[in-house]
Amino acid sequence: MWNQESSWNTGDSAHNPSMSAMGIFRQPTNSSGVRVSHELTMRLRFRPGLNRWIRDWVVLEWGAVYLDRQGEIEMARILVPSITPERPVRRGHSPFSVYLIFLVALFSVRGWSQSLVIKDVTVIDATGRAAEPHSTVVIDGDHIVAVSRSKKTHLPQNAVIVDGTGKFLIPGLWDMHVHGASDTRAPWSHLLFVANGVVGVRDMSGPPDANAWRATQASNPDPSPTIYLGSPIVDGPNPAWPDSIVVANEAQGREVVDQLQQRGADFIKVYSGLSRNAYFAIADEAKKRDIPFEGHVPDAVTAAEATGAGQKSIEHLTQVAEGCSKEEKTIAAERQRLEASFRAPDATMPQKIAAGQNIIRLNFHVVESFDEATAQSLFAQFAKNGTWQTPTLTLLQGQIDDPLNTNDPRLQYLSKEVRAKWDAGYYSHFPPPARAAMVQLAKAEFDESKRIVALMYRTGVPILAGTDTMNPHCLPGFGIHDELAFLVDAGLPPLAALQAATRNAAQFMGQRDRRGTIEVGKTADLVLLDKDPLADIHNTRSIQAVVLNGKLFPRAALDAMLTKAQTLAGIPDAAASGK
Ligand SMILES: [Zn+2]
Repeated sequence: MWNQESSWNTGDSAHNPSMSAMGIFRQPTNSSGVRVSHELTMRLRFRPGLNRWIRDWVVLEWGAVYLDRQGEIEMARILVPSITPERPVRRGHSPFSVYLIFLVALFSVRGWSQSLVIKDVTVIDATGRAAEPHSTVVIDGDHIVAVSRSKKTHLPQNAVIVDGTGKFLIPGLWDMHVHGASDTRAPWSHLLFVANGVVGVRDMSGPPDANAWRATQASNPDPSPTIYLGSPIVDGPNPAWPDSIVVANEAQGREVVDQLQQRGADFIKVYSGLSRNAYFAIADEAKKRDIPFEGHVPDAVTAAEATGAGQKSIEHLTQVAEGCSKEEKTIAAERQRLEASFRAPDATMPQKIAAGQNIIRLNFHVVESFDEATAQSLFAQFAKNGTWQTPTLTLLQGQIDDPLNTNDPRLQYLSKEVRAKWDAGYYSHFPPPARAAMVQLAKAEFDESKRIVALMYRTGVPILAGTDTMNPHCLPGFGIHDELAFLVDAGLPPLAALQAATRNAAQFMGQRDRRGTIEVGKTADLVLLDKDPLADIHNTRSIQAVVLNGKLFPRAALDAMLTKAQTLAGIPDAAASGK
């Protein structure tokens, strides 16, 4: 890649206080005649095939061209060399003006924008490299154009400069398991996301027509995270959630994949109630059509079968604990028997209670029969097949129904309707003894989940950070910081947790060339922190500023977003749906 320090030799801006933007290039008005230079910045797409020639030519004489990984030119920065006594000013049709006309004709100009510079900051770029103190990050438009440790880094004229002294810069965060980001509650939750440094989310229950939904988004004036948009939930008969698409058989499974892909979903969201036939048909069709399927491992399918069938991500460790037990088969058979007797139309109340108690006992047995060697062999398959895991520890912890959570001051950002649902918790419809047992079980399962996540990390299973926002105690925006802390608590190093919400998210979506790290050419989605997140992961909450698509939101702007979210939350709201 082109060396910025040697190439960005423009005039010293300190000598050029009256820089003005005139048309397509800026001309400094230094009268000394010694260090005058011109600078032209173009954002453009380049015609393939010519890049070799252009790169050599432009870098040699007049500036530089940024190429992205596809060889497309993302941006060109064309400099007129400083005019020195050895190189007198040429008038008339100078080579520069000829080249300029040629270049402008060659490229399609995409737009102009002011630069943003974050100076003297410790960069944690999330590539895996060590933190780099005293770095300067230069952003032009919505892209990062320089990351440098040198004090000599050229700062573009007219740039907005943020002093990062003593601060830490991380890539913008992605919450990879949310709900509600694409529905009517969006403006409210979007503000909470951005105010918390969440620049993107994976929506796990999208609208029926993703293309139609995207067409409505251009008019949204508020800052919003980028949304990786799932299909509606695809479930079996008697679905767990309203608005699910019900698939009863193989033919319907194939048809639904076709339809949802045509309507623009980024992936098919599969759910717990799918039959084996329907699930494997969806898997097969999705593979044929090259669209990922992500979500729960259905109750009727094992985690090993799901990874074998190519499920791209498994949420909430569904069916994973069962797969970590040597008794997976007998547990599955027993579960089927108990659930059938619970649901039997002629079952009496005492029979239902007995079956319910036995199901809880069986779930405890799943935890107790965890076997490390069995787990390791399952996780080796996940790693080999590239089956991502979104443990959503935030959701699992919320299911403990910890009374401390109701005092969480962040609950002020929820509407009354959502708050009422959350306060009721998961078990309000259970009789007290069953409720106590469920809470005990949730605690045991949460502890096991953390053990599983640690072992997955050590086995090389790719992990995503997701919260399951809109379920009780999974807060939009704030929740991702909870999830990062849970991942570290489980056993991930702070950097690995941070990567789960940044680099990994980009890699998962096939957007590693565009996002997820602080590198030249990446989208300028950044979070400026007061304190070091690698020293203590809770420091991801010490947000001083967010950069979203190159736009700077200082702390005061983030506070204003929170206030606005709180106001919106006061407006009666559609009831929250969950996972
Ligand atoms: Zn969910």
